[in-house]
Amino acid sequence: QDAGDSQKDKADRATSDQVLDQRTRMILLQMINRGFVSEVHGAISTGKEANVYGAMLHDDAAGATTHRAIKVYKTAILSFKDRERYITGEHRFKGGFDKGNNRKMVKLWAEKEFRNLRRIYNADIPCPEPISLKLHVLVMGFLGDRKGWAYPRLRDAVLSGDDVDQQWYKLYVQCLGLMRRIYQVCRLVHADLSEYNILYHDGKLYIIDVSQSVEPDHPRSLEFLRMDIKNVGDFFRRKGMDTLADRAIFNFITSPEGAVEEPEMTKVLEHLYETRASTADEDQAQVEVDNEVFRNQYIPQTLEQVYDIEKDAQMVGKGEGNDLVYSNLLPDQLVKPKDAEKKEDEESTSASSDGEGASLDSD
Ligand code: ADP
Ligand code: MG
Repeated sequence: QDAGDSQKDKADRATSDQVLDQRTRMILLQMINRGFVSEVHGAISTGKEANVYGAMLHDDAAGATTHRAIKVYKTAILSFKDRERYITGEHRFKGGFDKGNNRKMVKLWAEKEFRNLRRIYNADIPCPEPISLKLHVLVMGFLGDRKGWAYPRLRDAVLSGDDVDQQWYKLYVQCLGLMRRIYQVCRLVHADLSEYNILYHDGKLYIIDVSQSVEPDHPRSLEFLRMDIKNVGDFFRRKGMDTLADRAIFNFITSPEGAVEEPEMTKVLEHLYETRASTADEDQAQVEVDNEVFRNQYIPQTLEQVYDIEKDAQMVGKGEGNDLVYSNLLPDQLVKPKDAEKKEDEESTSASSDGEGASLDSD
């Protein structure tokens, strides 16, 4: 057998448990020829939209072996219905959403994951190193031990010792810090963050699966952020943790003021814990109600949308913009109280439309 054939065998191993089409096998072969990997192994994970394979790169000169991971998006797709909401309104997808062309669409997803991963990696956030991309095949760094065992998902993490609660607490504040950093430094919202898309090793969290992440100017980014916050909170609450209110976390992540580095971010969160209203058992119900209200509140994404909403416009006009859920996203001059003369004006207007205001409040 010549070298070409044996390399082809190595690429074919990946097909033993999942049938890969000819095109994908050619790309894997190309990845081998270009030296991004030396051999492709079996699937680490098989999902609805993508499979992740283990791979190895041999550096013969150095006698070293590096593990890598290859994410192969499935081109024969099933349902991309759920994906549509992430693409609509995303300026990086101006071309739009061509349901008729799966292959092209899947290529866009892989591209998006690669670009998002690069941003997150460059911001020193623990995640796989983006290595190479070709059509729907993405080669990245492997998150696992030297024997090739992938780190567990946070969901499957097993903590031990007599300070397990303290360890969960640390992971929780670490996670919130990563979310803030992703938002402020990478200008991204993960948009599918949960214990399934975070890997855990030795006290450290790693962010994965970022193909659906969107920029803050996406019309639904804050809605996705709110969902990320809920998912993370739900998980840590199931671990018995006393979590911060969703609204406080939302403000922590989106506030342009303050640190985006550790250990400062953790200090801010510790301060939030200290200064919040007590959450003794009888207050826990109140916290849940507040979370529920927050989750259902309308969050405008742009100033244009702010002015679309009559109620919010009135509040901002009265200098009460500070009460808005997104107040820290508004320019200062909008939330500062207006000068006295203007204020009187507004008050007389709002007095005449009291009934209207009340009906809007009950939305
Ligand atoms: P999916 O879209 O199928 O959810 P993910 O990117 O979440 O794809 O990857 C699926 C699983 O593959 C992850 O839960 C994780 O266990 C594993 N995995 C993904 N990327 C890596 C990596 N770089 N290193 C190790 N394991 C990984
Ligand atoms: Mg995933």
